[in-house]
Amino acid sequence: MNHSPKQVAVLGSTGSIGTSALEVVDGSDGRLCAAALSAHTRLDLLVKQAQRHQPRWVVATDLQAAAEHDWSGLPAETKLLTGSESLNEITADPDIDIVLAAIVGSAGLESTWTALQHGKTVALANKETLVTAGPLVTRLAEERGAQLLPVDSEHSAIFQALQTGKPDEVERLVLTASGGPFLGYSANELEQVTIAEALEHPIWNMGPKITVDSATMMNKALEVIEARWLFGVEAEQIDVTIHPQSIVHSMVEFVDGSIVAQLSPPDMRLPIQYALYYPQRLPGLTKRLDWTEAFRLEFKPPDPDQFPALQLGHQCAQAGGSSGAVLNAANEAAVGSFLAGELHFTEIVPACRSVLESHNFDPNPTLSQLAEFDRWAREEVTRWVCA
Ligand code: NAD
Ligand code: MG
Repeated sequence: MNHSPKQVAVLGSTGSIGTSALEVVDGSDGRLCAAALSAHTRLDLLVKQAQRHQPRWVVATDLQAAAEHDWSGLPAETKLLTGSESLNEITADPDIDIVLAAIVGSAGLESTWTALQHGKTVALANKETLVTAGPLVTRLAEERGAQLLPVDSEHSAIFQALQTGKPDEVERLVLTASGGPFLGYSANELEQVTIAEALEHPIWNMGPKITVDSATMMNKALEVIEARWLFGVEAEQIDVTIHPQSIVHSMVEFVDGSIVAQLSPPDMRLPIQYALYYPQRLPGLTKRLDWTEAFRLEFKPPDPDQFPALQLGHQCAQAGGSSGAVLNAANEAAVGSFLAGELHFTEIVPACRSVLESHNFDPNPTLSQLAEFDRWAREEVTRWVCA
């Protein structure tokens, strides 16, 4: 091979997206190189990943976990950095070609921001960045000539479909949703849901936070907000349809009535590799659809009573300002409380709604004001849980 490998910083390398991304790197025939890895927890796995990929840097963001860990297995050429601020050193480094932002939650915002400030291409899995600070993030990318490439499968599908038309020819975006594990459950059945059941997704194997978000459909609400800022469309132009097979990853409807979709068996390695190889398409690891077998693709509108989170997503996509940061942080805190056994599954969305409704809306917040909204919303959820 006569081309030098793309240098990838995999932030959140020990998570579901991070480990899938390293499989893509492994299967890239030397086209991609994992130059930096970062993790908050699972530091044993981080060391194993470093042994395999021989990165220039590993970053352990949790200072205490980093201090307690035995790093003797780290390759000699790999430099260990600790603390979240070290991520900025990596994302600013001129040798990094592309940053895969796969940290979970608004904790992923700062490193993505630094990468964009330095004009880097960011393959963005961390949707919470756009939910929290969409207008500021997309403006920064534009100002610095940095590219934001979606990794979220729905947004990757839309990004691909959009290439068949011009921006003013777009009528609507249609996000597909699997419906999660509780599709069709009655209100009574939802009351009985356990933590273990909420962590069992029928199709996707993901980190715990996004798995719970998929069960409440808050994930789709966050994706509506993500799409609103990433693609610059109005909230009213974004629809959601339930598609239990998760083969059609999303669609764009153009003004002439044509609908362009992207299809593939559900496997996050495909949108990850699409972003990492972009603008090229190359053979990959994922299975193909088998057209010799009969299969069904079903679509149905979501029931707003069963999935009240969706309405919050549209509301925040419409309102903009501070609302996305508040919804996102409230949801992160509420999901944390649910996983800690302090909040019932059916209370997650009402807690978020209550915090959103009681917040002091700012139509034009700065990044530091958004951080303050984030902190406030988490505290409000704690108060809500204790009340
Ligand atoms: P995960 O929980 O499996 O992994 C999260 C990673 O981030 C881990 O490496 C963890 O160590 C690190 N991390 C956690 N807290 C951190 C902190 N405070 N500071 C720095 N690093 C921290 O999560 P995931 O499922 O891989 O999701 C990652 C992101 O990708 C999320 O924003 C999620 O919404 C998005 N996403 C995931 C999927 C999926 O299939 N898993 C699909 C679409 C989008
Ligand atoms: Mg998605």
